[in-house]
Amino acid sequence: MSEEVLNNLQKINNRIQQACINSQRSANSVKLLLATKTVPAERIKIALNAGYTLIAENKVQELKEKYDALKAVPHENHFIGHLQTNKIKDILKYDVTCIQSMDRLELAEKLHQRLLAENKQLDVLIQVNTSGEESKFGIAPEGAMQLVEQVSRLSTLHIKGLMTIGLLSAETAKVRQCFRLLTSLQQQIIASAIPRVAMGELSMGMSGDLETAIEEGATIVRVGTAVFGQRPTPDGYYWNESMEVR
Ligand SMILES: *Cc1c(COP(=O)(O)O)cnc(C)c1O
Repeated sequence: MSEEVLNNLQKINNRIQQACINSQRSANSVKLLLATKTVPAERIKIALNAGYTLIAENKVQELKEKYDALKAVPHENHFIGHLQTNKIKDILKYDVTCIQSMDRLELAEKLHQRLLAENKQLDVLIQVNTSGEESKFGIAPEGAMQLVEQVSRLSTLHIKGLMTIGLLSAETAKVRQCFRLLTSLQQQIIASAIPRVAMGELSMGMSGDLETAIEEGATIVRVGTAVFGQRPTPDGYYWNESMEVR
């Protein structure tokens, strides 16, 4: 079991390196983030112990469940799921360093209030819905600039870039359009030179489309299935509000 994960990590590494070569980028310009939803802590530890230490959950509940088991192994936690405002207090207990799924002002403001109260700060990426699919979260592309401006005024939040889930499709050209849209938004935001806003990170690309994402400028690829295997729960459970029943 451990061997399978290690082999998969090696394969992903090779894919990232090859994509970097193909797009004349240096291999260390792309970080591998492991999407660990549904994966038991013991299995996550295999990757952490092998030096793959950037991981992310989609649900605060899972973060909480695995927290104790993973605490002793050095790693960095991002959050990539839809964050409900009633979970803000909870998420701050589990040492998350970046919320990649910042997609609305209400969430940013409530998070800011809580961070102020706890005397903490947090990195965020603005999540953009580049595919136009209703089932995915993220601010519409037209609203991204305004949200960046609004969030930039909240002193406890540090914007580091943008995140997107591309269209889940076998048609590479359509997937590429999503990633290009994110890159073009990044360029527009950089051109606006908004104070306190960094745009260095582009979190895009998953198991099926990381090569395309890297070719289009990804600095973080988020990989789950290709490392840990098929998940028992359909992704709709994580990506679609209407399915968020307990
Ligand atoms: C699950 C998930 C991933 C990883 O997807 P895979 O196809 O399993 O690699 C990446 N990003 C987000 C936001 C996810 O929820």
